[in-house]
Amino acid sequence: MLPVTVFAGRKVALFGLGGSGLATARALIAGGAEVAAWDDKAESREKAATEGIAIVDLTQADWSSFASFVLSPGVPLTHPQPHWSVGKAQGAGVEIIGDIELFFRERARVAPKAPVVCITGTNGKSTTTALIAHVLRQAGRDVQMGGNIGTAVLALEPPADDRIHVVECSTFQIDLTPSLKPTVGIQMNLTPDHLDRHGTLQAYAAIKERMVASADIAIVGVDDEPSKQMARRRAASGRPLVRISGEQPLDEGVFAGVTANEGKLDTRIVSVRDGKPRVVANLAGIGSLRGSHNAQNAAAAFAACSALGLSDDEIAAGFRSYPGLAHRMEELGRIGRVVFINDSKATNADSTEKALTSFRDIFWILGGKAKEGGIESLRRYFPNIAKAYLIGAASDAFATTFDADGRVTYERSGTLDLAVAAAARDAAAHGGDAEIAVLLSPACASYDQFPNFEVRGDAFRTLVAALPGFEAVAGR
Ligand code: ADP
Repeated sequence: MLPVTVFAGRKVALFGLGGSGLATARALIAGGAEVAAWDDKAESREKAATEGIAIVDLTQADWSSFASFVLSPGVPLTHPQPHWSVGKAQGAGVEIIGDIELFFRERARVAPKAPVVCITGTNGKSTTTALIAHVLRQAGRDVQMGGNIGTAVLALEPPADDRIHVVECSTFQIDLTPSLKPTVGIQMNLTPDHLDRHGTLQAYAAIKERMVASADIAIVGVDDEPSKQMARRRAASGRPLVRISGEQPLDEGVFAGVTANEGKLDTRIVSVRDGKPRVVANLAGIGSLRGSHNAQNAAAAFAACSALGLSDDEIAAGFRSYPGLAHRMEELGRIGRVVFINDSKATNADSTEKALTSFRDIFWILGGKAKEGGIESLRRYFPNIAKAYLIGAASDAFATTFDADGRVTYERSGTLDLAVAAAARDAAAHGGDAEIAVLLSPACASYDQFPNFEVRGDAFRTLVAALPGFEAVAGR
């Protein structure tokens, strides 16, 4: 844990007692602050109280006594409307910050030069964060990984000069971190998403740009227009910048994932410094980094690890042993030529698109609670589908799309267990010598049949593991 001493002897209000809220309360108390914690849910308050965190009804409290207000990043600061606690803090002139702000303030006090890598972007944050942490660890560095992924940042070990913190930052977290100042700040990409929580695309982009503007070294993906403009403005400031791309060659920077002849993906990662290109790694055969989206993630990870002093060989070796994250195009194992892929995190068509572009002969399990637009946008990948298996509430809507298109053979399996059995049987009987994928990439939320995408993915893993002849990838 990282005891937060910057409020020692003072009162701090805290709203939101989920995982990061509890970690914040513990860290503030360990550092000598007096914490007044609250949550709208009685159950969360009771849980916090059992470990001695002081529960204070913030709807009734005297806000003028608080030195600061720490808000959980899941609680609306601005959109769709500010949470009531935000109004209370503003009314009393109390600053509103998040746990990553406390991390940066404490770092400034205990180890201002401690290296910190922060990662943001609309997509690929978790993959890039996990990949950077893995590569650094494999190269023997002392690494702490957390933030929006896994462990709350204040539950990590304290910053130190010879320890690297790798921190995933959501837009909400950046918005609550006025002292954000990473050694390496990564902005991956920006597409309209979560606009219900940020208002306009401009407002969303402005928050993301704080990552670019505040970093000692900025790494910026230039595959979308708003991010490209951020890179331009950073370049104009004359401060260190590495542009990265997951789809196009660059004159300077790191690129990968260029589509070569016949639509084939070039798996090499190229670093261009002072106009001189060098092939620094190759993603061919790395099951955990398939697809052009992962080329962008790997390009960003290369740039970050290189900026932190790792050699090309150390980084390339780290890529090769990267195990991947659960539920994101996760290779579970094989039966002969058939590879089983758990992409349960793909809860919309955009995410599923990444998987459909990454395999050829696909036995595709999909369905659940459909999102607007369904799978219409995926039609151009239908030639890659050997057969589809529909589950859950979206079955009728998706069957309509398949019928209208006419190219996809499908069956209505109804439930995941029946879909897995049928897909495994059909895949085993499929001809040819190429790799065949049985792919769970639902393009849907899970709520009709499962509590969340993790439970859905775990159910798939269990079903697949029970198939005769299944050989799991080591460690899965
Ligand atoms: P995040 O943490 O930003 O949600 P993840 O790394 O968890 O991102 O990936 C979630 C999904 O987003 C993946 O399953 C994939 O479909 C898609 N994705 C991953 N990386 C990228 C990228 N660089 N660009 C676009 N989409 C991506």
